[in-house]
Amino acid sequence: MSPNKRNTIQKTTILNYLREVDTHPNADTIYNDIKVKIPSISRATVYRILNNLVEENEIETLTIGNEQRFDGKQHGHIHIITKDNIIDLEDKAILRDIENLAKKHNHKPRNIKVIVEV
Ligand SMILES: [Zn+2]
Repeated sequence: MSPNKRNTIQKTTILNYLREVDTHPNADTIYNDIKVKIPSISRATVYRILNNLVEENEIETLTIGNEQRFDGKQHGHIHIITKDNIIDLEDKAILRDIENLAKKHNHKPRNIKVIVEV
């Protein structure tokens, strides 16, 4: 398999995984879960692909404490961030209100994420 093709498969596998989970995993958890699907993948490759996906706006990062976590959901949602957890809140009325507020300030939101720190 060509290096390009291998890279595409690795990247697609990581992206699909992040589209499906709602646990906002850290890089180590992603590496361990992807290794089950692609045993030959290295930790460095997973980290590099995660950085690329963030740069391409395919996934987002969230910080909890001093830990970086990843989110591959494409639709806007609200994050409740506690000391040790990140919970998604999908409330269409609240999201609509936020979208309207953003429009009032001449922003056209591509994605809505509100972080509530408790
Ligand atoms: Zn989320």
